[in-house]
Amino acid sequence: MEDFLLTILGCGTTAIDPHKGCPGFLIQSGGKNLLLESGSGTLYRLVKTGIRLDEIGTLCYSHHHPDHVSDLLPLLHSLKWDPGLQKYPREMNILGPPKVLDLYHQLMLFYQDSLSPDGNRLNVHLLSTLERQVSANNLIIDCITVDHTPDSTGYRFSIQDKTFAYSGDAGLDANLIKLAEGCDLLLCECSFPNRRKMRGHMCPRDVGALIREANPKKVLLTHIYPQWNSEEKKELDKILESDRVSLAKDCMSLSI
Ligand SMILES: [Zn+2]
Ligand SMILES: [Zn+2]
Repeated sequence: MEDFLLTILGCGTTAIDPHKGCPGFLIQSGGKNLLLESGSGTLYRLVKTGIRLDEIGTLCYSHHHPDHVSDLLPLLHSLKWDPGLQKYPREMNILGPPKVLDLYHQLMLFYQDSLSPDGNRLNVHLLSTLERQVSANNLIIDCITVDHTPDSTGYRFSIQDKTFAYSGDAGLDANLIKLAEGCDLLLCECSFPNRRKMRGHMCPRDVGALIREANPKKVLLTHIYPQWNSEEKKELDKILESDRVSLAKDCMSLSI
């Protein structure tokens, strides 16, 4: 059986919090590294795990909101100019919905030579989620549109018979149920309490319904805004009574 490991680099939100970084997750499979989201602070936590930036084979994004993508700029800049990262020819995939690929193009256009990978032996391959299924890093990656921005995408990453599903930012709908269906581990957002639920995000009631419909084996909750009052936290406690549900924490690793 291949190794298949998830490390939480940031389980936070747009709120800048010293204990919860903006979204960032490392997926290691078959000796390869995939960085899923790179919100602010992700790169510091990544290098703390001992992984160099040039050891990331694939970057993968759910949508273009800054809390999910803002470390893309320092990552590309570092890959171009950090002398410690320029020794070997490298290939890197960037998988994302059209707005994320557009952001990459806009950054290249704006910064030109100070960012362009040309000349430092880095080849970037852009992969669109419109392909619906791609393979990268020994993984089959299914891209499923979710309810958040018009092109927001959730993912199912599979290797052999193991599947890890990630909601991204998303509201509950039929696609999210399909995404989570019978997976070994679901990393699911739960932004707001029931009474303050916003369109395009999950609340504990929605998470409960998703678990009943999709029956994932294990669930990790992430992207929880810090401003829940004590009554609202009881809604989370109720969901956490289930053995299969737990809270994501920065720097935790688990085998899928
Ligand atoms: Zn977000
Ligand atoms: Zn968002």
